[in-house]
Amino acid sequence: MDRAVALLTKRVRALGPKRRTGLRDHSPAGSRELGADVFTLMARRAVWEWLGDRCGECHGAIVGEIQDATHPLGGRLFCCIACGGTGRRRYPDAERAGALRLPVEVYRRNWARQFAAVLAMLDRFDGDTERRVRQQLAPVAQSKNVA
Ligand SMILES: [Zn+2]
Repeated sequence: MDRAVALLTKRVRALGPKRRTGLRDHSPAGSRELGADVFTLMARRAVWEWLGDRCGECHGAIVGEIQDATHPLGGRLFCCIACGGTGRRRYPDAERAGALRLPVEVYRRNWARQFAAVLAMLDRFDGDTERRVRQQLAPVAQSKNVA
C-alpha cells in the first residue's frame, strides 16, 4: 500500500509539469517536516477513496431499484442519483481539502481538477488490470468453444 502511494505520488508530481505555478505546494508551514507534502497527501487520499469508493446508496451497482408491485418485474430500476450513475461515492470538497490540509478555496482553485485526474488515473490502472486478466483468460475460453 505504501509502495503504491509512493509510486502514485511520483505520477501525481509528473501530471502537470507545464503549469508549475498551479502546482505549488500550499501546505501550511511545518507539514513538510512531517514528510507529507500535498502530492503525497493527494496520492494517499486518492488511493483511500479508490479502495473504498462504493456509493453508499447503490453500493456500486449504479442502478437502484424501487419496489413496485404493479410492475411486471416487481420493481423499477433507476440510475442512482446519489452518485450520478458512477457507482462511486461523492466526497465533499471540504473533506478532500481537509485530507490535503488545504483551505477549501485553495483546494477548489488549484487541486480539484488534479485530484479528479489522479482518480481517473487509478481507474485506468484498474482497467489495465482487467484487460490483462481477460487476455489471460481468452485462450481458456476459446479452447472451451473448440471442444
Ligand atoms: Zn450510487
